[in-house]
Amino acid sequence: MTLPQDTQRPDQLRVLVLTAQHADFLWLASLLAADAELEADVTWCPDLVDCDDLVRNASFDVLVWDCAFHSGDAASFLQYLAVSSDDKPVLALSAESPGERAPALLAEGASDYLSRQALDRWQLARAVRCLWYREQLACSARGHLGRALATGVINRDLFFDRLQQALLRAERAGHRLALLHLNVDDFRSINESFGYQKGDQLMIRLAERLRRALRRVDALMRIGGDELALIIERVEDSLDITRIIRKVVTALEEPIVIDGNALVINASLGVATYPESGDNAENLMRRANRAMFEAKRDPGTSYRFYDRQLHISAGHQLRLEADLRNALRGGELEVYYQPRVDMATEEVRGVECLLRWNHPQRGLVGPDEFIPVAERSGLIVPIGYWVIEQACKRLQAAAELGFPGLVFAVNLSFRQFHDRKMTETIFRIIFNANVDTSLLELELTESAMMHDPEYAQRCLRELNQLGISFALDDFGTGFSSLSNLQHLPISLVKIDKSFVQALGHSADAEHIIRAIISLSHSLQMSVVAEGVETEGQLDFLRQAHCDEVQGYYYARPMPWNDLVQFLSNREAAACLRQ
Ligand code: C2E
Ligand code: CA
Ligand code: CA
Repeated sequence: MTLPQDTQRPDQLRVLVLTAQHADFLWLASLLAADAELEADVTWCPDLVDCDDLVRNASFDVLVWDCAFHSGDAASFLQYLAVSSDDKPVLALSAESPGERAPALLAEGASDYLSRQALDRWQLARAVRCLWYREQLACSARGHLGRALATGVINRDLFFDRLQQALLRAERAGHRLALLHLNVDDFRSINESFGYQKGDQLMIRLAERLRRALRRVDALMRIGGDELALIIERVEDSLDITRIIRKVVTALEEPIVIDGNALVINASLGVATYPESGDNAENLMRRANRAMFEAKRDPGTSYRFYDRQLHISAGHQLRLEADLRNALRGGELEVYYQPRVDMATEEVRGVECLLRWNHPQRGLVGPDEFIPVAERSGLIVPIGYWVIEQACKRLQAAAELGFPGLVFAVNLSFRQFHDRKMTETIFRIIFNANVDTSLLELELTESAMMHDPEYAQRCLRELNQLGISFALDDFGTGFSSLSNLQHLPISLVKIDKSFVQALGHSADAEHIIRAIISLSHSLQMSVVAEGVETEGQLDFLRQAHCDEVQGYYYARPMPWNDLVQFLSNREAAACLRQ
């Protein structure tokens, strides 16, 4: 069935079909022939005897392999094909549904998989075409893609080089890296409707748009007719990657206008990370590519991580983020209040406002889980303002209920300092609420001021001029010394609960707590110890002249109504003692 080589055009696609049944071959060949543009030259390989000769000596672009071709082990056969065909892409076909067979075959080296169950000419032609494009890019400088390669529009080698360099850097610095492989869905029909030139334009626009959306991207290149690849260096964690995926997905949502037509495009994204999914460029490319093919199975724009664990956690984060977006609007967020007790008088001096999320399906979600998501997505900015609004409301309510002078402390995230309108917005909130600002305290960590210290200091001063005071949260866990912070308007230091909880187990904890207290006092700052759970911890803190304590020993964070009850009970008990 092989055509003499001289009748082939140099840019013609050559497909070898490995199937034992001639009828099968005719069927597959007819499906491929239905794609007129593909003009594939299809050859039949009926058995293993012919196979070796054909695979080794005739050069095919794509191998279509029916898994029933031989009865041996699929993995070793794929390996044999890879070696003897010099790594030509293999499209595997079998009777099972993709869910049953595809993951194993893809893992064993097949480049793509189709089920024979519902195989049609579109599916087959598209899969073969996709593999061919990639194959062409790798080894040919002919045809349309060849031109693109020659003109530098597509540069797979350069990208490979960049990836290798990025990996070296990541290895040296002990950083993580992510490789994203993006493939535009159904690019063929775009080309068919608008022509290759417009298809090219679309890819260029898409690349430009992504480059703008992803300021941090380290390399973005077109590596195929319908493919882009991105390298993201210095990835911190999976949240970092999910944020990037979200940006890509958002960038794709907006239609791209070509010739006055607004085209909505879908794409499939495969993600492979170093070191989880591989430690060399080849593996990472292959795995991101495989993950991209997996993503193709989901409708619309979708993504897949090669690393399953990462995929699960990214899905979780993205879902959490989407849910969180609705949470604020849907009234699912609630503020709990944890009292802070004065050591000398045993009076409740203030309360810390702590966020809780009543998730409709998952129940109460703690801030340790959702605050990082809110910070990464920027949602912490509106949420943070909402907490201040709630605090102001409760501050007024407390006075009306007979608890005037109660300080309300609100946590401020480092991310809120990225909002250039922070002081203005806070000013508006307290102005509208008409509260005594001296009862409002903002808690911040040292790291909140690291990003842009000058701007942060200005914010602190401006807010301080409005009467708001500041507390340094989680003190002892960061790097700065208190004396570095003395020029800031900070009136209170909160000792991190890890030190309090180490009391009795570590002599260091005692020394550190004593040192923080005496230094703070010498700088005219008060001290609150957090996480006080036992009588023993309380005794130590009293002896060490700590000013206030906060912890489960007195009360856990609680909803507003419980707090009112708690304050009333304590007041009644105090009256009885007098
Ligand atoms: P944080 O500011 O250090 O808050 C103190 C945390 O210690 C709270 O955890 C509190 O429930 C917990 N805690 C208090 N006493 C004890 C104790 O005796 N034992 C133990 N084991 N834990 C105690 P929570 O409420 O889970 O909040 C965790 C963190 O989430 C907070 O740490 C804060 O950084 C953040 N967070 C909470 N609400 C907000 C908010 O409205 N905005 C921002 N930006 N962050 C918030
Ligand atoms: Ca706090
Ligand atoms: Ca704290």
